[in-house]
Amino acid sequence: MLESTRYIPDESTMLRFGKKLAENILQVQANRAVILYFNGDLGAGKTTLTRGMVQGLGHQGKVKSPTYTLVEEYNVAGKMIYHFDLYRLADPEELEFMGIRDYFAKDCICLIEWPEKGEGLLPPADLSVNIDYYDDARNITLIAQTTLGEQILRQL
Ligand code: ADP
Ligand code: MG
Repeated sequence: MLESTRYIPDESTMLRFGKKLAENILQVQANRAVILYFNGDLGAGKTTLTRGMVQGLGHQGKVKSPTYTLVEEYNVAGKMIYHFDLYRLADPEELEFMGIRDYFAKDCICLIEWPEKGEGLLPPADLSVNIDYYDDARNITLIAQTTLGEQILRQL
């Protein structure tokens, strides 16, 4: 599968990269939910990258971490973006109660932090985004998991 690594020296580069990534997702004809998994330790920059994506598509307000709400939703550029953070999920069954399947049935973009906490109840990722950090610098490794993911990566 296609894979690409990016060096991100600072936060503003991370935000710009998020904008480009989101624009690429919009350009790909999906007709179904596009699923991204974000992996990396606390503070790696998963939420910062999603903020770059959501604001990069034109969202004017804040993008806060959905650590307590599990999901925040945005309607931007004619698309619904669902940003999940499953860090505090105690039991994947909670996802059933919140009607998680309905989210993935739509033509939307789903950005999922801590996907391993929802194992078994999440659809497979189109793109895995792995973030490693040292001080302010980050290395992002993007791994396409589907042909749709490959299309997104190819233009990046
Ligand atoms: P996560 O969601 O992975 O826990 P956050 O995005 O909430 O991480 O936090 C990342 C923190 O690291 C923020 O405080 C951000 O300002 C800081 N930071 C410093 N350098 C970078 C960088 N290059 N990319 C992203 N975040 C950075
Ligand atoms: Mg986060």
